[in-house]
Amino acid sequence: MLRTSLREISAALKEGQVSPTELCQKCLSLIKATRFLNAYITVAEDMALKQAKASEKRYRQGQTLGDLDGIPVAVKDNFSTAGIETTCASNMLKGYIPPFNATVVQKLLDQGAVLLGKTNLDEFAMGSGSTDGAFGPVRNPWSYSQQYRSKRAKNSSAQSGDPDWLITGGSSGGSAAAVSSFTCFAALGSDTGGSTRNPASLCGVVGLKPTYGLVSRYGLIPLVNSMDVPGILTRSVDDAATVLGVLGGHDPKDSTTVEDAFSPFQLPSLIDLKNLCIGIPKEYNTPGLSPETLAVWSKAADLFEKAGARVMDVSLPHTSYSIVCYHVLCAAEVASNMARFDGLEYGHRSNVDESTEALYAATRREGFNDVVRGRILSGNYFLLKQNYERYFIKAQRVRRLIANDFAKVFSSGVNVLLTPTTLSHAMPYAEFIKEDNRTRSTQDDIFTQAANMAGLPAVNVPSALSEEGLPIGLQFIGHAYQERQLLTVAKWFEKQVQFPAIELDGVMEHLHTTPHQEKSVFLT
Ligand code: GLN
Repeated sequence: MLRTSLREISAALKEGQVSPTELCQKCLSLIKATRFLNAYITVAEDMALKQAKASEKRYRQGQTLGDLDGIPVAVKDNFSTAGIETTCASNMLKGYIPPFNATVVQKLLDQGAVLLGKTNLDEFAMGSGSTDGAFGPVRNPWSYSQQYRSKRAKNSSAQSGDPDWLITGGSSGGSAAAVSSFTCFAALGSDTGGSTRNPASLCGVVGLKPTYGLVSRYGLIPLVNSMDVPGILTRSVDDAATVLGVLGGHDPKDSTTVEDAFSPFQLPSLIDLKNLCIGIPKEYNTPGLSPETLAVWSKAADLFEKAGARVMDVSLPHTSYSIVCYHVLCAAEVASNMARFDGLEYGHRSNVDESTEALYAATRREGFNDVVRGRILSGNYFLLKQNYERYFIKAQRVRRLIANDFAKVFSSGVNVLLTPTTLSHAMPYAEFIKEDNRTRSTQDDIFTQAANMAGLPAVNVPSALSEEGLPIGLQFIGHAYQERQLLTVAKWFEKQVQFPAIELDGVMEHLHTTPHQEKSVFLT
């Protein structure tokens, strides 16, 4: 039952095949059984059960709230949740309980969704591995899948027990792991440079980054205000469209959301590709792209062509500037955003009390990890009076050129771009930490960051299993505010590839054969 889609589980709830409380309990026990994945920082057990009970009453009285009534969901721990600790996986916010809900969280609750808890991430969403949070790294459920383990047994002399577990990608790795291991039906992520799509690709789930301005950022603790977007992680494209229908629309509390009316939509089941033009950006065939991912990408282009779509090579000439441009802009916004964490109003406060400056410095040294502190330092450097023109303003200009590349391609008749999402499939944690994580992040985001700088919608669709039995994802990038078209194309493709469901018996086996180190990740 936990493996079904949103639509199916909603039907099962309506028909009384399962009650919201039973469903919630099933999810909570699976969360406990898979706690070694470290997907959740906080499990809001009591609150979730209360919400499930309330939903049950609504079903009994025939007064359900909406499509998500009684459906268990999870939320990345950088969205404010009233009464539930919100840490951003940072010691800086450990123990912080917001007095309000982010707009997107409130919208989920208003539809009757049951909020199971808060998912793990890289500290303040800075990273591409979900390896860099204060509460430990997230493990990719595929590490324990039959698909991967059977291949490993054949290809190496690997011992049984704990395999070299794989990273989830990031920074919304907890949400991706939660959805792919069936502990919830949908999860919120955030996407500033790829943080929803990257872990979706590595964990074999759908990850949608909506157009900037379509979904409210109110209550999403900011990383880069001009690029942050709440993301949606689900097991199917239809499910992502359903959740977008709940979340989209103007919010008076976020002046960057557009005022145009947003209408939720359902995707058609019969899809005709006849008048569709798919663009393949040639610059995305970049060094570092794995041969396997390249092959999956070209096969996908062939599929579209055979089905009658026009597939054409296009150029996004400023792609190679995207990483460095993102980094200047990201660091600059981080430097100003993080200034609020000074130990005075909320969050961590150091014991140092010689002077206000000393208190600030000690609080920030104790509260932030190296990645966050490094970005604050470089951001302040870029913003110095003598550097502002040379770095910040220049990067803003390059950002415009990157956005113009997309505009040009789209005005030439291209409806949707097809690209890889990540350079390769998930890699073992042990290998990932050998290299500097910051260096890795910069390479891994090459396909995703440009869409954030241009504000465009983009979605990861699980596309194939690698030779090792691991998910490979492809990305579709669409016109601004054309999520319907984007997701329709993604749905057609999803149907063609028939990506296999994760076979998770291995997780249970792992649980029973490997002594599990208790961690204090269950805070409520
Ligand atoms: N990896 C990118 C970074 O570290 C993107 C992060 C994100 O999208 N939140 O900035």
